[in-house]
Amino acid sequence: MQGRDHLPMIAIVGRPNVGKSALFNLLVGRRISIVHEQSGVTRDRVVAAAHHRHKHFMLVDTGGVGVGLREHKHVDVFDGLVRDQVAAIVAEADAIIWVLDCQDGATPQDREIAELLHEVDRPVVLAANKADNSTLATTAEAEFSGFGFSRLVPTSCTHKRGIGALKDSITATIPAAGAPPADTGLKLAVVGRPNVGKSSLVNRLLGTDRVIVTDIAGTTRDAVDVPLTIRDGEEDIPVTLIDTAGLKRRRQVDTVVDFFSMSRTEKAIRRSDAVLMLLDATDPATAQDRRIARLICDAGKPCIMVANKWDVLSSGGAKQRDLVELIRDRIPFMKHAPLHVICALSGYNLDGLFERILALREQMQVMIPTSVLNQFLHDCVARTPPPSQGSRRFKLFYAVMLGNPPPRIALFGNDRRACSPNYLQFLENQLRDAFFPEAGLPVQIEIRERQGRLRSEKDGTRQAAAGVQRQRQAGKKASARHLSRRKGWRKR
Ligand code: GDP
Ligand code: GDP
Repeated sequence: MQGRDHLPMIAIVGRPNVGKSALFNLLVGRRISIVHEQSGVTRDRVVAAAHHRHKHFMLVDTGGVGVGLREHKHVDVFDGLVRDQVAAIVAEADAIIWVLDCQDGATPQDREIAELLHEVDRPVVLAANKADNSTLATTAEAEFSGFGFSRLVPTSCTHKRGIGALKDSITATIPAAGAPPADTGLKLAVVGRPNVGKSSLVNRLLGTDRVIVTDIAGTTRDAVDVPLTIRDGEEDIPVTLIDTAGLKRRRQVDTVVDFFSMSRTEKAIRRSDAVLMLLDATDPATAQDRRIARLICDAGKPCIMVANKWDVLSSGGAKQRDLVELIRDRIPFMKHAPLHVICALSGYNLDGLFERILALREQMQVMIPTSVLNQFLHDCVARTPPPSQGSRRFKLFYAVMLGNPPPRIALFGNDRRACSPNYLQFLENQLRDAFFPEAGLPVQIEIRERQGRLRSEKDGTRQAAAGVQRQRQAGKKASARHLSRRKGWRKR
């Protein structure tokens, strides 16, 4: 499976509280529920890959950008820097969903957004949101027609109305290009120490009606490859299971010990795109489990941890929360991997596992647009500046996403040694929470040294931060063809 950077990008814009975040979640479809203790930096997600009727795209929620600045520095929403930030994202987008609030009607801020959107030559679809009843839906068109955009769809996130029509309308504006990301199939290795239930899980997965097994492709020396398709609504998703327990089944060997070896596990992990790592809930996170987890981490592979045999524990009155805590505690370096509790024998929670696999697959296609990445990091640094290391202080100029999976991000800064491991970890956590939450992707950050300056000495404003300016240039470059017709942003 290849990471791509050619997915069309659809940006959601609109003033605060109109329902951008709610709409984002509905459009992405697969809701990964996350509780963010620390509010402010972002919402659930800022960017996600999504698809509709075989058109694949990246959805960007501009409402997640600049939130930190607004909360902490009292920056006027949609003013100054935030407006510039949104403008830079819009400049990079292929199409725009502009969310309006039917219940509030047109506001002066909306008029300002309309002006901004008219300046870019992009398809715009108005989502007249909070159209919770038919009266609101029918008056929406009249209310917003004055803005001069021809495409309008009344939506209600609360009642999940109009979402399909909005998807139809916006995807009609983007090319079908960007072939489905995983044509060749997601190679998913199923690994775990003997007796955790790998065979049982694979058999269960193959037995559900969501899965069509195409063929058992034969064996390698290390595993059996099982190509299959998973039904996901209107789409069939190709997946190849790398089944490390398959050899055992094929050879009908009763003792499993002979057929387990770390090198077999390691090879399966290496040639996979992602890993399902099984644990035995009745004996979780043993030393051998930790060794396998370490292999997965070192290989930089996306991973979902699966704790099997929940039936045994639940019959004894155990709590899932305690199990999860115990495993997290013993395998702390896998905290990016979701932990999913199942019972392979009964099929308990298997549907949820499918959802996690599909969500992981989608997140493996996310390439964060340069404008979004830089604005996000700029927010992070403004909120929590890097501590000085002796006489040195780390300055972040700009960042670029190099690829995915795993998500690799290069930070261009003044001095590698001035960035403490803790601060790097902080940035990694922020990035993962915002862009790859709960998916199981390790985020890899590297620092590259560059000459430059974070702040302009001239005006000293954060707006002049070099990172933002550079990304703005990148965004402008990316859309040069459109910008040739642009009248120019209003600069503040
Ligand atoms: P954002 O700031 O634009 O991202 O807005 P949010 O998605 O956070 O939503 C703001 C508020 O509007 C929340 O309280 C939502 O529950 C509410 N909301 C979102 N969509 C609808 C809708 O279709 N109808 C109604 N009545 N409320 C909605
Ligand atoms: P593998 O060596 O990892 O492939 O493990 P197997 O699938 O062969 O399972 C090992 C043993 O665990 C078998 O006796 C299974 O019946 C049992 N087992 C597998 N899954 C479950 C489960 O969800 N609950 C219980 N109670 N036993 C299970």
